[in-house]
This record gives sequence, structure tokens and C-alpha cells, in this order.
Amino acid sequence: RPAIPRPATPRIFVVANQKGGVGKTTSTVNLAAGLAQLGQRVLVIDLDPQGNASTALGVPHPVGTPGTYEVVVDGAAIDDVAVPCPDVDGIDVVPATIDLAGAEIELVPAVAREFRLKNALTASKRTSPDNEDRWDFVFVDCPPSLGLLTINALTAGSEVLIPIQAEYYALEGLAQLLNTVELARKALNPVIRVSAMLITMYDARTRLAAGVADQVRDSFGDIVLNTYIPRSVRVSEAPSYGESVMTYDPGSPGALSYLEAARELALKGTS
Ligand code: ADP
Ligand code: MG
Repeated sequence: RPAIPRPATPRIFVVANQKGGVGKTTSTVNLAAGLAQLGQRVLVIDLDPQGNASTALGVPHPVGTPGTYEVVVDGAAIDDVAVPCPDVDGIDVVPATIDLAGAEIELVPAVAREFRLKNALTASKRTSPDNEDRWDFVFVDCPPSLGLLTINALTAGSEVLIPIQAEYYALEGLAQLLNTVELARKALNPVIRVSAMLITMYDARTRLAAGVADQVRDSFGDIVLNTYIPRSVRVSEAPSYGESVMTYDPGSPGALSYLEAARELALKGTS
């Protein structure tokens, strides 16, 4: 299979949906692993105090681990807190600890509170010796809310990826999310746009899943990735081994779909 060309400038994906349990973290981790497998250099920024992305990528994150909290609250450099993912070459991770739960409130009175993550990412490029970008793709795994942490991600990002669980209530809350992206675009970050939606936990045996997918496709057209991620036990087991499904069971349908979705995402941006 042909290698995927690197993007000219880093593509910063904000993986957002204020609903919990729709597959934000699972998609972040496995798309990151898929892109790394395709030769891309990837950074995962864990912006959820639960730290599920850190866990799934095998990066320990007990209280006291420097990570996203230090970046957004203390102004720490991304390069100082990013650590390599132990199992997957090509992925670095900025871990989240439970301290990040406080950041949402601590940031309220802070100067330039919406720009903390953006400034850190911009500084990362300037401090590299050759002024080169260190990563091709950045994924920001958002918490299940539209608070200041998610706003920081929308301010820092170039694209929004919305995972949509193929379930009855899938579209509920989507208008509010799109509205928040639009507000961020107008007030904070003119380049941000929703560039991809990914149907997750798709159960091909049910008419409901097909109906939801069709409805999303009718409403949003081309930004919906053609690859649907199937519901699969292997996908849900992988994180408890500190692995993405791509290394846990590379031949499984979940891993193959995430690899295909990663390829689609990479090629979409180049066309
Ligand atoms: P979010 O980050 O949006 O809260 P998660 O990625 O943590 O969602 O997923 C919620 C739950 O669903 C997790 O237990 C995860 O393992 C499970 N899950 C996600 N995707 C799949 C899938 N394709 N098949 C089976 N289980 C999945
Ligand atoms: Mg999550």
C-alpha cells in the first residue's frame, strides 16, 4: 500500500462531543495508532481529567505526573511534558491527571484563558532547534463537556472530528456542539471547522444503526468518513491492557476499520 504523504503543516484534530461514551477516547487512541502505522508522527494530548487516553496508550498518569494541567494552568512547554507511547513508535502523549478536573475552574479568572493550549502548541514549534514541526498530526481528546478545556482545544485546533455513536440519541446535542464550534470560529479561531464525523460502535445487524448512519450522512454529507467503526469486544478490551486495538489485535475488524479510517482522514486533507 502506498505510504501517506505528510501534511505540509500539522493537522490538529479536536476530538469532541459533549456526550460521554460515544467513542472520543477510543477513536483518538486508535486513529493515532493507525496514523503512526502509516508513518506519521503523532501527538496525543489528553484533555480529559479521567486520563483514559493516557491509560489506553500505556502512559502512567498518577497525580503529580506533569502533563496537560501544567500546560494549560502553569504554562509548561508541551515538549517538556510529552512522553513517548511505550508500545507504538511515532506517538507521543501529553498525559492527564485528575488535577485537570480543577483546571476548568482555575482557568476562569486567568489571562488569555482560552489561548493556553494554542500558545503552548505554537511555542513548541518555535523552540525546536530547526523551527520544524515535531508532529504531523495532533489529536486532542476532549472531556465530555463544552467548558473551558474544550474551548482551549477549539482555539488551538485546525479541525474538529466528531465521533457519533450509532444509537438512537446520536444526534441529540449535536446542534449545541456545532454552535459552540461556530462561536469559537467567530471569536477565537477563524480556521477551526468540523472536517470529519466518524460513526462508532456500528452494529451492522441492526436497522437502527444503519438508520442513524444514513441520517448523519444525509445531514452532513462528505465530512462523514466512509469507514464505520464496528462494535467489537476487542476494541473495548484493549485499553485494560494499556494498548490500542491496533497492537492488541491488529487483524481484528475494529483495528482494520480504525486503520482504514486513519488512512481516509489523512487522504481527505490532501485532496
Ligand atoms: P468517550 O471518550 O466519548 O467517553 P470512549 O472512547 O471511552 O468514549 O468509549 C466509551 C466506551 O465504549 C468504552 O468502554 C469503550 O471501550 C467502548 N467502545 C468504544 N468504541 C467501541 C467499539 N467500537 N466497540 C465496542 N466498544 C467500544
Ligand atoms: Mg473519553
